[in-house]
Amino acid sequence: MARIKKKIKTIKIDADKCNGCRTCEIMCSAFHASPKYSSNNPARSRIQIITKRLENKWLPVFAGEYTPAECMGRDKYIINEKEYEECDFCRASCPSRDLFKEPDSTLPLKCDMCEDDPPLEKPMCVTWCLNDVLTYEEREEEVEEENISDVEIGLGSLVDKHGMQKIMETIARMSTKEEKIN
Ligand code: SF4
Ligand code: SF4
Repeated sequence: MARIKKKIKTIKIDADKCNGCRTCEIMCSAFHASPKYSSNNPARSRIQIITKRLENKWLPVFAGEYTPAECMGRDKYIINEKEYEECDFCRASCPSRDLFKEPDSTLPLKCDMCEDDPPLEKPMCVTWCLNDVLTYEEREEEVEEENISDVEIGLGSLVDKHGMQKIMETIARMSTKEEKIN
């Protein structure tokens, strides 16, 4: 596989500074609404604040990869005397919880670092977090070329849910309809 230079984008999280205001969730969902900024729904956000109000715990977590299976072993963390639940730090869109799934279609959501044309100077959640919890960083790394697109990941999750046969029939039906329109 070919090796290419890739810009690696990261967001550093200083969770101790988070007060659970959820502005990041609102701005992420508004940026990804269609048309852009036409609505906001934190359930559609690709950052979620894991909240335990009574225990003074606020943990920003970014949506990562989709996985068709839940994990068999899980970890519990105790940090600064606060105990975190088994899935609190996990970024996956997985079958064991509703997090990081588009509420209507249940398709997986994944943080895309607010890719846009022209590019934003900083992702929306970083810009709008006024408590300096989120810090945007960039670096270059040599990596193996990846060919899996977002479309393939989305289709993969639909195939897991409905089966390949049903998806193929639906695509065939949709393309016949499209041909008739054109
Ligand atoms: S905007 Fe910042 S302080 Fe507010 S919930 Fe998000 S990460 Fe926490
Ligand atoms: S970087 Fe952009 S897509 Fe990712 S969680 Fe923040 S606002 Fe949402």
